[in-house]
Amino acid sequence: MQRLILAAFFCKGEGCRVCSHTGWLEVLGCGVVDSNVFKAVGYKDVSGYAFGLGVERFAMLLHQIPDLRSLFEGDLRLLEQFK
Ligand SMILES: [Zn+2]
Repeated sequence: MQRLILAAFFCKGEGCRVCSHTGWLEVLGCGVVDSNVFKAVGYKDVSGYAFGLGVERFAMLLHQIPDLRSLFEGDLRLLEQFK
């Protein structure tokens, strides 16, 4: 698996709860798809590469939101700050 990681914004790479004390934050995970996934959906002799952009992580960095989970709680007070 490959991934794009950035130095953690909150702790400047020192390590904190946001980056799981690694000093890095993954924002673009990617890798080769396991061939069993294709077999499970009926495809044979194919391969693939998948990736996903963690847009919520960019929002977290841009707006200095300390807990990623707060973006998914549906709290309008948080969301209304970004009008
Ligand atoms: Zn950190």
